[in-house]
Amino acid sequence: MYLLDPRTTVLIGGITSGLMAFVLTMLTRAAPLPVPGMRTWTIGAWLVFVALILLGLRDWITPLASVTLGNTALILASIVWLAGTRQHFSSPMRWTYWLVALVLAALALTWFVYGEKSFRVRLVIVAGLSAYINICHALVLLRTHRSEHSRKGIGVTLTASWLAVLGLVYFLRMLHASVLSQGDIGLLTQDIVQIIYTGSFTICDLMLVIGFATMASDYVRAMVEEQAMRDPLTGIFNRQALVKYLERELAQGIRGNHAFSVVMLDVDHFKKINDKYGHPVGDQVLIQLCRRLESLIRPYDVLARYGGEEFFIVMPGTPLPAALLAAQRILVDAVQVSNSSLPDFTISMGVAEWRPTDVSIAALISRADIALYQAKENGRNRIETSGMCAAETTAAS
Ligand code: GH3
Ligand code: MG
Ligand code: MG
Repeated sequence: MYLLDPRTTVLIGGITSGLMAFVLTMLTRAAPLPVPGMRTWTIGAWLVFVALILLGLRDWITPLASVTLGNTALILASIVWLAGTRQHFSSPMRWTYWLVALVLAALALTWFVYGEKSFRVRLVIVAGLSAYINICHALVLLRTHRSEHSRKGIGVTLTASWLAVLGLVYFLRMLHASVLSQGDIGLLTQDIVQIIYTGSFTICDLMLVIGFATMASDYVRAMVEEQAMRDPLTGIFNRQALVKYLERELAQGIRGNHAFSVVMLDVDHFKKINDKYGHPVGDQVLIQLCRRLESLIRPYDVLARYGGEEFFIVMPGTPLPAALLAAQRILVDAVQVSNSSLPDFTISMGVAEWRPTDVSIAALISRADIALYQAKENGRNRIETSGMCAAETTAAS
């Protein structure tokens, strides 16, 4: 006689998964912003709860309810969890493929409980299909994770690891059922293999739900960090992010021969636009200007809002002459906004290259600011550089 019997472990698993499903439901409601896939993971957790209760009631309810419905719900839960992960990473789910597999499994289970009674074949079907789904799920997670460099946190690793463990548990159970004879009473057979199997499943289910909750919290943290770096009006980087980025560039510049330049950009007579057309139109001008600037800068350049109608473009690996060439193109093209209902406007720019004497970013910003001031003084709609002769500066034609 063992200390535990499979019915106990299955029912304990059922209660645990019910509690975990409840926790996920509460976390979904409490999340400060919607987490893609979280509702689907929660549905999966409730399906596990229903499945384990149905399986644990074997002998007390009809085999159709316990064996067919219970196992189908268990397989469906794995599919739904996979769908949640697909949603989380916005990748497409092959619903037809998985639902066909589910229906075929449900039909086969019904046959092997009412037609040709065989616990062993049922076990091979459920454990084999579940092993396959969970291993696929782990691989999907690892593959998606590798392409999402920005997403930090241990949620994906934790979930993928426990999916792999669960897949392995199912696989071993399937191997055991295929190779060795099984007591044919069913899931609640009183043997050590069944107890280990049902017990391991309970632990994996618990850890998986914790994994999904951790992925959700990683997502929320990443989004909050992302929002803290962004300007709410234009969606580009804010001053805080600019300073952080410039400090990194400066550190690289100080360490080696890494040239980089900055362009400080200001809308001319922006106050007049606000006064004449109103603040909302002024806002639209800033938004449209940013969209244009984003399309004009190179992929490795960084655009940030310094404040008000002032922007910075950081150009890594770019000495002053190349930065000036880029700025000349921007001076002409950035004001060609596609929205014709907006008033015409011009911009002025100050360009400065980092020098070893600039030991702080404030020194570099100050030189760009002085150049910008010069551009304003010299009539606006033009570019001035810090440390180049006047003949090389540019006015828009
Ligand atoms: P200059 O050519 O010398 O740069 O003149 P300017 O009018 O552009 O400069 P000034 O600094 O006098 O005015 C900037 C204006 O930008 C004042 C401020 O109300 C406005 N502004 C700052 N932030 C925003 C914003 O987010 N939306 C709108 N609509 N206006 C803003
Ligand atoms: Mg201005
Ligand atoms: Mg200004």
